[in-house]
Amino acid sequence: MQPEQVLAEFQDTGALLHGHFELRSGLHSDQYFQCALVLQHPRLAERLCSALAGMVRERLGAAYRPGAVISPALGGIPVGHELGRAFNVRAIFAEKQDGRLVMRRAFEVRPGEHFLVAEDVVTRGGRVHEVMNIVRERGGIVDGVAVLVDRSAGHFACERPVIPLLQLAPVTWAPAECPLCRTGQPVQHPGS
Ligand SMILES: [Zn+2]
Repeated sequence: MQPEQVLAEFQDTGALLHGHFELRSGLHSDQYFQCALVLQHPRLAERLCSALAGMVRERLGAAYRPGAVISPALGGIPVGHELGRAFNVRAIFAEKQDGRLVMRRAFEVRPGEHFLVAEDVVTRGGRVHEVMNIVRERGGIVDGVAVLVDRSAGHFACERPVIPLLQLAPVTWAPAECPLCRTGQPVQHPGS
């Protein structure tokens, strides 16, 4: 899939909106992105993640196949699930407990097992790093990180290859400096 095709899918499903928004951070932006709106369509999620799996193979080798895929809950789960389907391997996840990610449900990381980390959107990558640590603490090996959308604008430092389906660097402003506020365009507060 070409980046323009991916962008068109995000726009058609309402996952990517253009306008004047106040983000959760309090910053204003002309763009709002809600990945769950594209992933709510299973066939589309399958298609996007199949394209992402193709990019992973381009980067890590045509014959590449992880031992399993692991994601941070919640957003990463459908991406991990579809990447697990694409590679025909297990898809497991880590979930929040007392403010940090832990692995529950008797999911297993075997010593020496190779993992692909899957996430929907990466901004600073904190959750991805937590998941990488969970794998390594159990003797697993992280081969790379596959994400649907990289919004980090280069601020996500990772020592393993990061493979995004799409890069989307949002432009944000402090409200006092927002050019859209100056034009009088009403500000929207999209749901988080
Ligand atoms: Zn504004």
